[in-house]
Amino acid sequence: MKIQQYFRPTKAVVDLQAIQQNVINLKKLLQPNVQIIAVVKANAYGHGDVAVAKAALEAGATMLAVATPDEALHIRAHFEEPDILILGASPVSFAPYAAQQRIILTAFASEWVQQAAPFIADEANPLRLHIKVDSGMGRIGVRSEQELLDLYQTIQNTVNVELDGIFTHFATADEEDNSYFDRQVQFFEKCVTALPEKPRLVHASNTATSLVKDAHLQFDAVRYGISMYGLSPSPYVESILPFPLQPAFSLESELVHVKQLQAGDSVGYGATFEATSDMWIGTIPVGYADGVIRKLGGQEVLIDGQRMPIVGRICMDQCMVALPKAYAIGEKVTLIGRQGQDAISMNEWAAKLETINYEVPCIITARVPRLYI
Ligand SMILES: *Cc1c(COP(=O)(O)O)cnc(C)c1O
Repeated sequence: MKIQQYFRPTKAVVDLQAIQQNVINLKKLLQPNVQIIAVVKANAYGHGDVAVAKAALEAGATMLAVATPDEALHIRAHFEEPDILILGASPVSFAPYAAQQRIILTAFASEWVQQAAPFIADEANPLRLHIKVDSGMGRIGVRSEQELLDLYQTIQNTVNVELDGIFTHFATADEEDNSYFDRQVQFFEKCVTALPEKPRLVHASNTATSLVKDAHLQFDAVRYGISMYGLSPSPYVESILPFPLQPAFSLESELVHVKQLQAGDSVGYGATFEATSDMWIGTIPVGYADGVIRKLGGQEVLIDGQRMPIVGRICMDQCMVALPKAYAIGEKVTLIGRQGQDAISMNEWAAKLETINYEVPCIITARVPRLYI
């Protein structure tokens, strides 16, 4: 007997139509020949890489980007056609697999290309590279025109290697102030001009750049991550969105137990929560091993369209909520997402966790199944 069903009611529900609508709306911002690179790193920001990639490609994306070789191989196993770019530094030992699987790697230093060269000398397919320019992010990439030209020359001199693109990444695109941003743009444009020959794909924009900065930065392609998932890169970007983004991710569960406490009874490890009068408590089968980390103690959830707080310490696999009355076992609980007139957003969790919304779906662990609508 093959069991296909998930038996625990805790699940992440991902709305692929929302993702498609976001891609369609983003595409309207672009000049006709500009490609969309759907950024599906980190399991598509926790949403599920294969399902999101499929939805994004159907909605108009033509290329996929990930962070690591394993992510690229996972995508390639499901998608034969589209170009896949690895944005981070890949080990040189991965170079022959990249060539064979038609995965594009990021070239960020001459030394890396020299070290990769022996691995790819007799591959049937050439290894395609995109040069990364570090225009101010301080992460990986060439930091001067000289370093760029050295890298360019090394690529030209290496057998079986092809320069396919050049790109950079902005550190402050989600802010209103343009001074640091403009310096990055200037350096990147200087680099592109300095190349003896322009490669096929020049790209620089992430979500924030595309939504708030100048359209001339579209170049040949735009890399959309967070906006595709229906989230804003910063409160500033949120305040000037050209169209509403539709969040795609909900975290849902159910009450598995409901009981009445008497005044003086307590809840959870450390007995930190104590009932001051008779009250109803519900138990939800979700805990820090699912990514509902202990710092979320006190966070509200939605039950019956109303907000109710998590009380006591969050356990590994369960947590408890204070209920205004008795609810039946099986009553739906929404930890992230909409229920009735109200919604709990990733931004609300991010504020509680003192982080950014990007981090929220990424911390929901693999134990929580991703289901698609
Ligand atoms: C993650 C990433 C992106 C996507 O950025 P968003 O802000 O999510 O749109 C684009 N480019 C690079 C290099 C990245 O690492």
